[in-house]
Amino acid sequence: MEYRYIDVHCHVQFDDYAHDQEDVIARMKENGIGGIVVGVDRASSERAVALAEAHEHLFAAVGVHPNLVGHEPFDADAFRALAAHPKTVAIGECGFDFYRTEPTDEAVAAERAAFLAHAALAAELDKPLIIHARPTKGTVDAYATLIDAIKEAQAAHGSAVRGDVHFFVGGVHEAEALFALGFTVSFTAVITFARDYDAVIRTAPLDRILSETDAPYLSPAQRRRERNDPLAVEEVVRQIAEIRGEDLEAVRAALCANARRLFDI
Ligand SMILES: [Zn+2]
Repeated sequence: MEYRYIDVHCHVQFDDYAHDQEDVIARMKENGIGGIVVGVDRASSERAVALAEAHEHLFAAVGVHPNLVGHEPFDADAFRALAAHPKTVAIGECGFDFYRTEPTDEAVAAERAAFLAHAALAAELDKPLIIHARPTKGTVDAYATLIDAIKEAQAAHGSAVRGDVHFFVGGVHEAEALFALGFTVSFTAVITFARDYDAVIRTAPLDRILSETDAPYLSPAQRRRERNDPLAVEEVVRQIAEIRGEDLEAVRAALCANARRLFDI
């Protein structure tokens, strides 16, 4: 199908959509929105693959979220099998969360080991990573750890270790370090009400930015407390064009092409 937008990070497999999942997915299609349905553990990754199999405009990512690493160790064989599906386009979400999981030495070591295992599988299968990195409040600590871990993975596996850092909340310095390693960053509808990311959005090369919603989380300003859905990707793209002071149609086309290139959609 002809895509106008790609939401590179949504969770329409979650129970939040139990009563209207088919309706949300149909409205995505009507609006020309493709979506990557991202797993956070094995069960939600299996549901992501099932949705991608059932719908032309949905794709899957399979992995274990850093907040869940302590509950579910990354089973590379199980995820290798899920990744074998032709609609699985990425490995993740994986990474580092120092906000909701206290970054004790033990917790960071576990997240790092899981991240490196995801990266090894992604390199083996030549698929990009979808990365979650959330620092402790007021810092960029998780990005420093992530950048170091990416360098370790690339030293072992080369430039096959690539991907997108989702819900980017770092600064220009962290973004530039990730771009230099071949990664993109993506933004949610948080940018419709928080101005903290304008400098990164303005200075990033256009081919390094992707659009996402992280639905059901992070609704746009007008409906901030409601459940979010991937249709909000249109507002994210509009906001990115506005912050950059660039033509909306040119930005829309570029962000769509960026996603299709990275995830081979
Ligand atoms: Zn997510």
